[in-house]
Amino acid sequence: MEFAVDARTRELVEQARELGEREYRPAGLEADRRGGPIPVGDPFFDRCLARGEGRTRWPGPTERRVSSGAKRSVVATLLVAEELAYWDRGVINAVPGPGLPETNVLAMGTDAQKERFLGPFVEPDRPRWACFAMTEPGAGSDAAAIRTHARKDGDGYVLNGAKCFIGAASRSDWILVQATLDPTRGRAAQRAFFVERDTPGLGSFHIERKMGLKAYESTSFTLADVRVPATHLLGGEARHEGSAGFKTAMKTFNAGRPIIASNAVGMARAALDAAIDFARRHELLGRDRVRDRIEAMARKVRKARLVCLEAGWLADREQPNIVQASMSKALAAQIAQEATTLGLEIVGTVGGRGDHLIEKLYRDVKAMDIVEGTGQIQRMIIARSLVGLPR
Ligand SMILES: Cc1cc2nc3c(=O)[nH]c(=O)nc-3n(C[C@H](O)[C@H](O)[C@H](O)COP(=O)(O)OP(=O)(O)OC[C@H]3O[C@@H](n4cnc5c(N)ncnc54)[C@H](O)[C@@H]3O)c2cc1C
Repeated sequence: MEFAVDARTRELVEQARELGEREYRPAGLEADRRGGPIPVGDPFFDRCLARGEGRTRWPGPTERRVSSGAKRSVVATLLVAEELAYWDRGVINAVPGPGLPETNVLAMGTDAQKERFLGPFVEPDRPRWACFAMTEPGAGSDAAAIRTHARKDGDGYVLNGAKCFIGAASRSDWILVQATLDPTRGRAAQRAFFVERDTPGLGSFHIERKMGLKAYESTSFTLADVRVPATHLLGGEARHEGSAGFKTAMKTFNAGRPIIASNAVGMARAALDAAIDFARRHELLGRDRVRDRIEAMARKVRKARLVCLEAGWLADREQPNIVQASMSKALAAQIAQEATTLGLEIVGTVGGRGDHLIEKLYRDVKAMDIVEGTGQIQRMIIARSLVGLPR
């Protein structure tokens, strides 16, 4: 394996560093102080659009393709994800765009669905969001257990259920809702439906209180007799042999794991740098016990980063990376939690006051262990893969 970083990737990471320092860190600290997400009309989002953020990777319909430039390698994506999270992980999720469901739509969507749902993100006229709603009050890790029900009715479907902790749900143009046609048939009966904002029956939006990552909203909502046309079934009605819908959702999570892991590495690095800075300013670097903690943090952060890069390196070569992707997330999220704990120990009582960057990172980083499959679930995937059981 070789991770020589080319000039273009170095430039991308440098741009991320400059953007993170100038925009992400201040916006993240402000949202944390306010205790709620960056409001929809905030000028921060206009600046995102002006920089070309918030766009889809879909190049547009063939007759009016918009060039999206050279394709970025997965390793470059991970290094940028690490750098931006160094400055603020919550702000990364606040940035407009088609977000998590974009990958599902690109993989499974019909041409008409790409045009209708990703089209407005090709050259967005205003900040636009979309989101993916899988988790329910009674179904998190066990995604096959979701109860949101889709019933065929004439030329469409009627959806009933409740979702929770869904990123950007109340501000999204559309929500890709994972539902089941028959809860007794597990993953094979799962489908994903586009539900557009203002569809009758979609409502009760409630922005959750969170311990960290306050810059973006995580929202619960309900679906009460929400009617969608059959054309809003992701992939169309013909495209559902076996458990294709469920598998596509799981593939999205697999591709996202090294990115979450790299975010965690960036957050751990931020805690390490803040701890060293504090120790230097308070003349603590002469103490063995402080240097021991710094050494432990630095060693672990390096280990986590290498596993992330291995997962990305394999993905760039289109080689199987399920084990490495899950390992990267299990390891990096755990190490980032340790790093912020060690950092808090170095800053001592200052950390307990609730206004030090390391204290914020300590609260922010726990979510890296939870989203897109908890640490326990990653370890289960790794173990089952290693012994040849189906995941
Ligand atoms: C900040 C944040 C943002 C989120 N954003 C989204 C989003 O945009 N869209 C979305 O759909 N969801 C989102 N989620 C939800 C997230 O995916 C779930 O929280 C996660 O899947 C865990 O589910 P749960 O919280 O119901 O925990 P549970 O599944 O109830 O698990 C509770 C505990 O039991 C452990 N556990 C569960 N099953 C097993 C097992 N078989 N073996 C060993 N241990 C087990 C878990 O690891 C965990 O520690 C978000 C969550 C957070 C915190």
